[in-house]
Amino acid sequence: MRVPVVAGNWKMNGSRSTAAELLADIQTGLPAKDKVEVIVCPPFILVGQVAKALEGSSTAVGGQNIDVHEAGAYTGETAAGMLLDHGCRYAIVGHSERRTGYGDTDELVAEKAAVASGAGLAPIVCVGETLGEREGGITAQVIDRQVAAVLDRAGIAIFPQAVIAYEPVWAIGTGRTASVAQAQEVHALIRQQLYAADPAVASATRILYGGSVKPDNASALFASTDIDGGLIGGASLVAVDFLAICEAAAG
Ligand code: PEP
Repeated sequence: MRVPVVAGNWKMNGSRSTAAELLADIQTGLPAKDKVEVIVCPPFILVGQVAKALEGSSTAVGGQNIDVHEAGAYTGETAAGMLLDHGCRYAIVGHSERRTGYGDTDELVAEKAAVASGAGLAPIVCVGETLGEREGGITAQVIDRQVAAVLDRAGIAIFPQAVIAYEPVWAIGTGRTASVAQAQEVHALIRQQLYAADPAVASATRILYGGSVKPDNASALFASTDIDGGLIGGASLVAVDFLAICEAAAG
């Protein structure tokens, strides 16, 4: 049985006071931890504060990215070990905003997944096709290529601790959600790809859907066989919406 995961990606949002408020509101209403694993991924500058506020709770903290180096002259970057030092358990790698805006290629994403995992952080590996790729009929090839890069570099052994998030780029922050059938189709492909490497690991790995998940579409998406929760952007900043999505995942 896979315990569903709901991860909130706060992106570059929040201040010390809004983060404290949001966490306090979220912590009051979360479902039991055996029903859903909840993760929040604040901007780096708030990670320490958030981790401290969540100490002793079942809500995990993750970074939104990592650098592949351990330490040194990499101005502006954050190492996996620094996130661990603050109590993080997860790190998002390969978010489409990093792939399109910051040069995160398939190879770099795979390296980040390997480095995160090697350091003891569970990577949340994001994959997804653009609208042009979907309309061009190459969604399956794009997803296969992105997942294969991670399997080639990091190996199947990083799963099932590592999580995959299928996030169609055209659905992120657009209010346009993949239909349940579209999402399930890609999730099943990803699981098949993991299955070819290791059937037991494939059945145990959580594959999340991300892309305009809201309280009104979460239940239908999460009811699908291969959808094990969600990576949530905009709605993770609104406590009542995030809680409703966590409830939907808890079932
Ligand atoms: C995301 O940023 O990962 C995301 C899915 O955003 P949104 O929920 O706002 O579409």
